Amino acid sequence: MFQKILIANRGEIALRVLRACKELGIQTVVVHSTADADAMHVRLADESVCIGPPPSRDSYLNIHQIVAACEITGADAVHPGYGFLSENAKFADILAAHNITFIGPSGDHIRIMGDKIEAKRTAKRLGIPVVPGSDGAVTDQKEARRIAAEIGYPVIIKASAGGGGRGMKVALTEADLEVALQTASTEAGAAFGDDAVYIEKYLEKPRHIEVQVFGDGFGRGVHFGERDCSLQRRHQKGGGEAPSPALNAEERARIGGICAKAIADLGYSGAGTIEFLYENGEFYFIEMNTRLQVEHPVTEAITGIDLVHEQIRVASGGGLSVKQEDIKFNGHAIECRINAEDPRTFTPSPGTITHFHTPGGLGIRVDSGVYSGYKIPPYYDSLIGKLIVHGRNRVECMMRLRRALDEFVVDGIKTTLPLFRDLVGNADIANGDYDIHWLEKYLAKEE
Ligand code: ADP
Repeated sequence: MFQKILIANRGEIALRVLRACKELGIQTVVVHSTADADAMHVRLADESVCIGPPPSRDSYLNIHQIVAACEITGADAVHPGYGFLSENAKFADILAAHNITFIGPSGDHIRIMGDKIEAKRTAKRLGIPVVPGSDGAVTDQKEARRIAAEIGYPVIIKASAGGGGRGMKVALTEADLEVALQTASTEAGAAFGDDAVYIEKYLEKPRHIEVQVFGDGFGRGVHFGERDCSLQRRHQKGGGEAPSPALNAEERARIGGICAKAIADLGYSGAGTIEFLYENGEFYFIEMNTRLQVEHPVTEAITGIDLVHEQIRVASGGGLSVKQEDIKFNGHAIECRINAEDPRTFTPSPGTITHFHTPGGLGIRVDSGVYSGYKIPPYYDSLIGKLIVHGRNRVECMMRLRRALDEFVVDGIKTTLPLFRDLVGNADIANGDYDIHWLEKYLAKEE
């Protein structure tokens, strides 16, 4: 087991990982920018190292500084959290070259899944169902027209290097195709330094369902069921729930089994999430994330298993603490992302939190790094915390969520809490009857 883990992240996820390390009796080092000197993860860690000024590229994305911090403190492993360097293959390779364990999969697996065209090809080869579309990058208008006509409109043009919901353009008819292809490719080049794009069928009413998987490091793969993250705005998740209201036990076991086998065949090690769109009873792979996911706590709530403990165990060579047959699903869990944003316009609302009071009681978990008097720096993403609620079934979970949202107080800044308070009273949400476009339609109606 590791002696000392360096946490290369900030905010709620840095604290989340720190908690797991403490429970396992592992020393912690955190790195931080000058803007985060007062952050909770810095206060609670055994050691902290300031690695640079506020902009992420000079601090949380600065590989040299982070490796130097490992060497100075004698950390033998790095947990990257999500975002920042968590899916950076070069970072994983550099750590390996320094004999520091990257708590995540190999650089090669990160590379395959980070290139969406390669990821889709790999998924197909492993027997995972994919969205119909081009078999690789598309550059030529004529080829694009041929493929689009073959799969049928509407189609979506996606950047191979895309992420965070960016680099996608929909073409409803052939008339839109030329412009969509051109803008997607230009935007991808500017945003990701790679203008490769591909075409797939645009699904009109899908749910976003993602399967939590783990490779144990010894060639075995397991799944921890699915999360439904269909509540989205601009392809960004508002939270998630587990299990999905749309799946039955048989469908869960089928898609879970396919994913677990694929992970084993790939020789993948550590946590991963295989994302699907689900429509008319069919699953369509869209991408795989090779890291811990923001919504992982709903899976923890219904399985009772600490996924960060498992990540650390696997990375240290100790394998998983559970086998597939030990993973049981108990009740229902919902997570809401609490962002420092205007709940209608979603413009960021940094500033000082004058009062912060979190709900409590049975089935409530709040993962957050903020506190009363905390000043939210303007440099990073707007997630200030996550509310995770667990109940014996979805109805109880929703009742508890409504109560918890009423108790939650964040003063001094705007947050997305009022939006969730409205949503828990909505009949479609209460019935679990929503697809990936539901939230945007709801927001447009409310305007
Ligand atoms: P990113 O890596 O940017 O998150 P994804 O491929 O995971 O990109 O897609 C993000 C979201 O975009 C999905 O959850 C879904 O809302 C939408 N999307 C992606 N592909 C399709 C598709 N073929 N049809 C309809 N919506 C799609």
